[in-house]
Amino acid sequence: MFSCRNVLILLGPPGSGKGTQSAKLSEVLSIPAISTGEILRRECQSGSDLGRTVQAIITAGQLVSDDLMNRVIVSRMLEEDCRTGCILDGYPRTVSQAHFLDDLLNGRGIPEPTVIDFAVSMKEIVARLSRRRQCSACGRIFTAPLGGDPVRCDFDGSILSQRPDDHPKAIRARLELYRQNARDLHRYYSRRDYHRIDAARSTDEVLDEVMMILQRGARRPVQKIETALTATAAY
Ligand code: ADP
Repeated sequence: MFSCRNVLILLGPPGSGKGTQSAKLSEVLSIPAISTGEILRRECQSGSDLGRTVQAIITAGQLVSDDLMNRVIVSRMLEEDCRTGCILDGYPRTVSQAHFLDDLLNGRGIPEPTVIDFAVSMKEIVARLSRRRQCSACGRIFTAPLGGDPVRCDFDGSILSQRPDDHPKAIRARLELYRQNARDLHRYYSRRDYHRIDAARSTDEVLDEVMMILQRGARRPVQKIETALTATAAY
């Protein structure tokens, strides 16, 4: 049972399957999956000034500032559904964000996060991203078949669309940025509760491996993060 490692961090390049796995893990573990990319995309859709600024950054394949992301993550983790834990998909993305998260968790006595790093070759990623489609209603991610294009979501029939940052120029920019930050994040977490897994396998195989890692590590007593995080409103 996953009952003690409250915060699970999914690291890995864009297109490595973090979004797909975090949705599955969220169901299995009954803790929310927090995708910083999704939160930002919702802000963009809201049409706010902040959304317009963020949209330009995302479309160019650049990173949003650490300060904004840290504020976003604290306010999300303060929500009621995170009281027993959460899965972080897309955060931290820089060592500065990782430091911030550690300070946040340490300061509140929340156990060390478990970090799963999804390893996939760059060739596979470019192939996956150019075929990635997302449901406009439920957010589920699909891969377009070679030579074909699925138009509707299997679950709710809504239209599938391609993300504006899944075009070749932005993909290249994101991968380059990812490479720079990944080396530092790997160094930062590698001596801790860190697990690098082969993510170029079927989604079920990857899920099984993540669950095995969590089951092996689940030895510490359950800690609710509800009370520990209540004091973070100052952030
Ligand atoms: P992907 O993993 O495919 O790049 P995401 O949905 O995780 O996509 O993120 C989309 C974009 O949102 C990123 O390219 C970046 O501009 C921004 N973003 C998401 N998370 C962060 C973060 N932690 N720090 C900075 N920028 C972020």
